[in-house]
Amino acid sequence: MTFTVAIDGPAAAGKGTISKAVAAHFGFAHLDTGLLYRAVGRRTLDGVEPLLAATTLTAEDLDASDLRSPQVAQAASKVAAIGDVRTALVDFQRAFARRAGGAVLDGRDIGTVICPDANAKLYVTASAEVRAQRRFAELAAKGQADELATVLADVKERDARDANRADAPMKAAEDATILDTSDLSIEGAIAQAIAVIEARR
Ligand code: C5P
Repeated sequence: MTFTVAIDGPAAAGKGTISKAVAAHFGFAHLDTGLLYRAVGRRTLDGVEPLLAATTLTAEDLDASDLRSPQVAQAASKVAAIGDVRTALVDFQRAFARRAGGAVLDGRDIGTVICPDANAKLYVTASAEVRAQRRFAELAAKGQADELATVLADVKERDARDANRADAPMKAAEDATILDTSDLSIEGAIAQAIAVIEARR
C-alpha cells in the first residue's frame, strides 16, 4: 500500500512536529525535505558549488550537527531558489513518497510540485510573529540566544525568498487543507492534522 501525505508551509509553523506525530500515528515513514536543502546549503558554506553539492549529497551530509542553525537555514533558502538544485533532489523525494507502508513528506512544494497527487495535503501556517517567537524560544533553549527582532527579520527574509522564487515557490496547493496554528496548542494542531488525513483514508 502507498499513501502519501504532503505537509507544506513556512518556517516554524509547526510542520516538523506535526509531520513526525502524524507519521508515528499512522505508522508512515517521514522525510523532512528541508534537511536536504539544509545539507546542500551547509556544503556551500564550505565552498562547494551548489549544484555539485546537490548531486553528490551523501547520508553523512544529512547528519551534520549544525544543520538547524540560522546560518544554514539562510544558505538552504538561497540554494533552494536554484532550479537545477531543486531538480537534482526530485527523484529521491518522489521515490520516498511512493514507499510501501505510507509516507509523510514536509517542505514547501510537496503538494504542488513533488507530489501533486498526494492522498492528503496540508498547508501548516501561523503569523510571522508567532513563528518568530517559537523559533526564538527554541534557540534560547539551546543556548543560542538571538534578539527576537533578529529572529523575526530572519523569518520574514526567508519567507519572502521562498514565496517569491520562480521555481516551485512556497504556496498552498489548491486542494490543501489550511491549518493555521497561531492559536492552537501542539496537541490541538496534531489532532486536526490527523482528522484531515483520516478523512482521506
Ligand atoms: O523546512 P526548513 O526550514 O528546514 O527548510 C529550509 C529551507 O529549505 C527553506 O527555507 C526553503 O528555502 C528550502 N526548502 C524548499 N523546499 C522544500 C523544503 C525546504 O525550498 N521542500
